[in-house]
Amino acid sequence: MTRRTTRDVRLANRASVLYTLRREGPISRQDIAVRAGVSAATAANVVGQLLEEGVLGEAGQLPSNGGRPASLTGINPRYGAIVGIDLGETAVRLELFDLALQRTAEVELPVGADDQRAEAIADLVADGVQRLLDGAGVERERVLGLGVGVPGIVEDSSGTTLVHAPSIGWEGVPLATLLAERTGLPSFVSNGAKALGTAEAWFGAAGEDQDVMVCLIGTGVGASFLQHGAVYRGASASAGEWGHTTLVLDGDPCRCGAHGCLEAYVGAPAIARRWLAAGGDGGEPAGGHGDEAAIERLAVAAEAGDERALGVLRETARYLGAGVSDLVNLINPDRVVVGGWVGLRLGPLLLPLVAEQAGGRALRPPFEQLTLDLCRLGPDAVALGAATMIVDRFFAAGGQRAALAAP
Ligand SMILES: [Zn+2]
Repeated sequence: MTRRTTRDVRLANRASVLYTLRREGPISRQDIAVRAGVSAATAANVVGQLLEEGVLGEAGQLPSNGGRPASLTGINPRYGAIVGIDLGETAVRLELFDLALQRTAEVELPVGADDQRAEAIADLVADGVQRLLDGAGVERERVLGLGVGVPGIVEDSSGTTLVHAPSIGWEGVPLATLLAERTGLPSFVSNGAKALGTAEAWFGAAGEDQDVMVCLIGTGVGASFLQHGAVYRGASASAGEWGHTTLVLDGDPCRCGAHGCLEAYVGAPAIARRWLAAGGDGGEPAGGHGDEAAIERLAVAAEAGDERALGVLRETARYLGAGVSDLVNLINPDRVVVGGWVGLRLGPLLLPLVAEQAGGRALRPPFEQLTLDLCRLGPDAVALGAATMIVDRFFAAGGQRAALAAP
């Protein structure tokens, strides 16, 4: 058993105050003590320190009925900036946030299909960070860190995070290190589905008392499991690779090298192929940017009641419904939330079909109490989630920047 030092206790109190203000602020110091579960003296002490450091700020006063008005304290949005990055296979989206995680600027850059080497992508991201900060007039010193959501498997067991993305030829790429070298900023890399899950946990409708599966359906397919508001990581942080669970034994080849994975049937390339095979208009050749054009045309046709498009959605829903029923039987979540650019675009028409298919396969008790709905955070949520992970680290460390410096 390790003994908690005075310093540990102090940092834990600071963290507890920061999380309380994130959820409920701005509130009075008296309320901070009650909600954070610390004594009034501790609350006064911790709030005093954090105000002095600028992490917290005064945020107006409560109307008083006679006595001295109580001042309200909240997170100081201007304390620092955070860069959240959604590194997709066709584009990289960079967003700048304040400490309250309000977005203040954004930049989107296309990813060239011809050069997906890690160094080239790291150069592109570093260039995007520079453009983002220049455009917003934010000095680099003010940036607490950058968080990146990536499409591959992120392994975090040996102290260095390594990205495995066989579809683009990445095998054990130390992306965080490459980015830290190029930007001079603390850099953290996570799987895109986990970033989406984190955004859902902080800003979505997931209750803290709930078990929620957040499913990302884009070019790749992944999931993250929120247990009481925290993302489940697994032994080396790769939990949630739902897209690479086997759906069809010896089925279609998957980008991971295996056959029959769920992703090979419900990822954007598979849906686009199905639409073209049904005689649908793809707009551009399939693959890469062409998938986006094909999915958009499929969505428009389905909305107009095109029978071929609806047939493609019905077939896609059979596969996705099987994948969802596996999650329901395995995890017994309160909610399954579907996001990602494909999930959000096709969701309104696709989800009722998926519910029908999943309902026909899943065990009755876990399915009956399940809510299946669309992620309400929109397609930007991966960048928001990646930034949220930085703020989460900062708060967990009691609001000390030094804790972010050494990833
Ligand atoms: Zn696979």
